[in-house]
Amino acid sequence: MGSWSESRGQNRTLQILGSAAREEYGVLAVVCYNIEHLTAVVRAAESKRSPLILLLFPSTVTQLPTLVWAAAAAVKSATVPMSLHLDHAQDEAQIREVAATLPFDSIMVDMSHHDHGDNLAKTKVLADLCHEHGIAVEAESGRINGGEDGIADTGSLEALFTTPEEVEEFIAADVDLLAPSIGNIHGDYGPSGPQLDYQRLADVNAQIAGRVGMALHGTNDFTPEIMKRCIQSGTVKLNVNKLVLECWNTYLREHVHEPLMKLMDGGMAVLQDEVERWMDICGSSGKA
Ligand SMILES: [Zn+2]
Repeated sequence: MGSWSESRGQNRTLQILGSAAREEYGVLAVVCYNIEHLTAVVRAAESKRSPLILLLFPSTVTQLPTLVWAAAAAVKSATVPMSLHLDHAQDEAQIREVAATLPFDSIMVDMSHHDHGDNLAKTKVLADLCHEHGIAVEAESGRINGGEDGIADTGSLEALFTTPEEVEEFIAADVDLLAPSIGNIHGDYGPSGPQLDYQRLADVNAQIAGRVGMALHGTNDFTPEIMKRCIQSGTVKLNVNKLVLECWNTYLREHVHEPLMKLMDGGMAVLQDEVERWMDICGSSGKA
């Protein structure tokens, strides 16, 4: 494989997000925990002719490695642009192993549990390593509070919004995608809902000036209006978890006595509908 500057144009995640940036829409990056989630979100993308990023957590890769290969097969056989992304990879050894052995298109290298200097230094080393394997890298600047499945909760650390200095530091650490902290949190928001600093988001986007793509984490409780405002401010990758998956849980709870196949089919149908609805909101429908 040649250098990253040559291979970066071939990277699926960056191609998808590059098109989104040019045409000013957002692409859903949907967390999948099982084969039904994967099937439903892929069906939504095909049906809406929308690009899609499939998100897996490191814990899923450990517990259910088969899902990685199933997702990679889905990416390969899809008739719309699709890529496979590893979210919040916090274990350096796992990142090295994944980059060398698994077919991910992009990895979020999350070293935010280290102090700032170590975070940047480790991010740069791991970004260069991922690039050698043709894998794009995302990092989080500032600190996004809260815990997600299997992800260390940094909530005891002081919440920090992304600063202009950090934007430059992470770009200098060779990342391809930046996830800023603008009041977004992992997990559920309080009763007043998300209180985001849209001005800071727009400022970060202006400062980035197309050098990297912008991702947003912590979309639980987002309304369509909040989602659209984040996209208008330059976000191209929208990580969604509970925002779309909750309907699957609800359906299963309410239909638990139905035969298994019927339960799975029904759950996939409601999840597909919900993902399609958010693809419309993000403006990615019809863009494939
Ligand atoms: Zn996240």
